[in-house]
Formats: sequence, structure tokens, C-alpha cells
Amino acid sequence: MTTASAAATAVVNAGPLDDALRQLSAAVELLAYDEGLHQLLAKPRREMAVSIPLRRDDGTVEVLTGYRVQHNFSRGPAKGGLRYSPDVTLDEVRALAMWMTWKCALLDVPYGGAKGGITLDPANYSTAELSRVTRRYTNEILPIIGPDTDIPAPDIGTDEQTMAWIMDAYSTSVGHTVPAVVTGKPVNLGGSLGRQSATSRGVVHIALAALAYRGATPSRASAAVQGFGKVGSGSAQFLAEAGVQVIAVSDRYGAVHNKAGLDIAALQAHVAQTGSVVGFVGADTIDSDDLLTLDVDLLVPAAVEGVVNAANAHRIQASIVVEGANGPTTSEADEILHARGVLVVPDILANAGGVIVSYFEWAQGNQAYQWTADEVEQRLESRMKQGWKSVLDTATRRDLTLRQAATVTAVSRVAEAHLTRGLFP
Ligand code: NAD
Repeated sequence: MTTASAAATAVVNAGPLDDALRQLSAAVELLAYDEGLHQLLAKPRREMAVSIPLRRDDGTVEVLTGYRVQHNFSRGPAKGGLRYSPDVTLDEVRALAMWMTWKCALLDVPYGGAKGGITLDPANYSTAELSRVTRRYTNEILPIIGPDTDIPAPDIGTDEQTMAWIMDAYSTSVGHTVPAVVTGKPVNLGGSLGRQSATSRGVVHIALAALAYRGATPSRASAAVQGFGKVGSGSAQFLAEAGVQVIAVSDRYGAVHNKAGLDIAALQAHVAQTGSVVGFVGADTIDSDDLLTLDVDLLVPAAVEGVVNAANAHRIQASIVVEGANGPTTSEADEILHARGVLVVPDILANAGGVIVSYFEWAQGNQAYQWTADEVEQRLESRMKQGWKSVLDTATRRDLTLRQAATVTAVSRVAEAHLTRGLFP
């Protein structure tokens, strides 16, 4: 006899693009759109794959692959991060670009969605090599990026230094300085105050709203955070500052746990020194997979796609999952968690803080004017809370999950923009 749980575990998830397309199909069905409009929303408007020859420091040449996918630009220039990861694929970038379209529409920032990737592990390359790869990639995709066409930002494995190299390569090619070609750049090149912490601050605004919605008090709540990079580390820090006991965190090398709560500032100092959470003296080591199924109130996956899946969704004990990462929950897991009463706050809402402050950075750049850190943080908080309220209202009114409500809202905004503009020719 096949049990429900065994049947679910037997489903092999086909990857992030499959999840993204399934979410879109569900929204299209709820919105009763025709197949033509569905296809228009499902397919990227433009994509580019490039070879990137890199001269290594030892003189040898290695050829890497880079991608840039622009999923949609009906509402404005395409916008999205650049990922450096050895496993990055074109289908993964397509999924991430589509989620960017929905995220920008949901939070009503005037962009479409894009994403880029290069098949490399930055840990294995020198700073000089990373600079050369980034500049050559920029040069290859130059015809399709620009402040009015497509604006890259940091993602996994990239940071504000990467953005500075892109800005420099782009600017030297066009013959004048163009800060607005990227966001998430250093403040001394026109970056916004508060951009580095924006995604994680946004995650925590949403996590606190979800805890309140479920009647939980932060000072009596516990959390586990997967990933301790730009998003995970800040999320753990701001959760702890709000009084939540963060009892476990992980990175690609391992996981650490302290049931009395981790000292996040000390852990950040340890990571700055050693490059990993592993070996932190104020904690025990646990298996990385076990972090996801710990007995906590709140789980924040802030690393990669597909980690909450049919194999572990039945064992998730958290009552709230706030998606710091893009696509951490597979479609199968989404159904299982919903059936079990676990509240899943979708990525396109939960981690939108980054693109909101990227938009602020772009707006400040266009005005040649800088806002204070307080102004940025207040505006971010207000947009995140408004996003939460509107998604929750739609979910309640239409009896949808938060993901369905968020996707339906976003997809309808993109479709309306497209229909108002009309089809050319
Ligand atoms: P990052 O490179 O700064 O950090 C990634 C972290 O995840 C690192 O600590 C890494 O060791 C860890 N990691 C990788 N694989 C892991 C695994 N299998 N298990 C546990 N940990 C693992 O990247 P980031 O910018 O923090 O991005 C994390 C996620 O957040 C991605 O899904 C990204 O698309 C999403 N995101 C980032 C931003 C942003 O502004 N940086 C905005 C929105 C969404």
C-alpha cells in the first residue's frame, strides 16, 4: 500500500523552473487568462548565453559560461541579481528571472525581472581573476544591459565589489560614468545607505508580522536560519535584535546549534575570521539537513532553491517558514506544508527588501541626491508592511495561500501592463 507520505517522497522535483512555471499556471488558472497570455508570461522575453574566457593567474586559460535572462519588461527596465555558482544553469536563471518579475510587480517597483549567472565558485578564484571574469562578462552582455534596459545587482557569490567592476566596465565601454547601470554598489560610487542590510531587514519585518499574525511574541519565539551569507547573517542578526532566540544557523560547510540561543555578533566575528560558521565555540555542531526540521517557531531558509522538499516537508516542525532565499520550497513541499497548517511566506514578498532599496538607490542616483540611512530604512519598513498587509488581505478574501495571493497579484499587474500597452505590431 502506498501511503500519502511515501507517494509524496517518490515525486522527483524537476527543479526551480518547474516550480516557477507551476506557480504561474496556478495563478493563470485563478485569473482565468487564456493560453496566449499564459505563454507570454511563461517565456522569457530575451536571453543570452556567453562564453567567458578567463586568463588565470598562472597563465592558463579557462572558459566559463555566463547567462543573462530578461523575463519581462512590460512595467519597466529588467532588474535582477547576478549569481556566481558552479551549479548555475540556464533553467535556474530563467526561474529566478521570472520570480524577479513577480517580486517587482508585487511590491510595485517600476521594473521587470531579470537574472544572471556565471558557472564559477568564487572561493576558488583570486580577486584579480574575479575582476577579469566580471569585466569580460559585462562586456559580453553589454548590448542588453543599461540603466534603462536591465540593471544587475548582487546575489549568491557576488557583492558590492562585483557591482563596482560591472559599473566600471560598462562606463569605460560607453565613454562616461553610469552609476545607475547597477544597484547594490559601494556607497562611495553612488550606492544607497541601507542597501547591504535591506533584504535581511525586509525578511525580519515580514517574519515579525507573521509571528504577530500567528499570535506569537518575538521574545518567546525561536528560529533557525539556513545560509549565513548576505541574507542569512543579517536575518539572524535582526531576529536576535528583535528578541527572537536564533538557535541554529548553517552555511555550505555545516551547521551550528545552541538551544539557549546563539550569540549572533560573536558568530559573525567568527565567520569574518574563518569564512564559515563551523567551529564556532558558542555552539554544538549538528547535521545541516537537521537544521530544517528543528523544533522552532520560525524557519528562514536563506541559501538556495529546493531545500524544503517532498522528502522533508512532513518533518518540518516550524509553524512559520519565511523564504529569505528564492525558491527554497518546492511545489510538492508547498502543498504538504499547507495541508499541515504551516504558514509559508513566499520569497517574492519575504525577500523583496533588496529590490525595494535597489529601486531607492536607482531613484537617488537619478536625482543625484542621497537619502539618510533612517529615511531608507523607514521607507523600506513601510513598503514591506504594506506588502504583507495586501498579500494577507488578498489571501483571506479569496481563500488562497500567501504564495497564491502574492503570485496572483503580481501576475495580474504584469498582464495588465502588457494588455494596456498592446501587442506590437
Ligand atoms: P551569499 O552568497 O551571500 O550567501 C549564501 C549563503 O548560503 C552562504 O552562507 C553559503 O555558505 C550558504 N549556502 C549555500 N549552499 C548552502 C546549503 N546547501 N546549505 C546551507 N547553506 C548553504 O548569497 P545571498 O545574497 O545571501 O543569497 C541567499 C539567497 O537569498 C539566494 O536564494 C538569493 O537569490 C536570495 N536573495 C538575495 C538577495 C540579496 O540582496 N543578496 C535578495 C533577495 C533574495
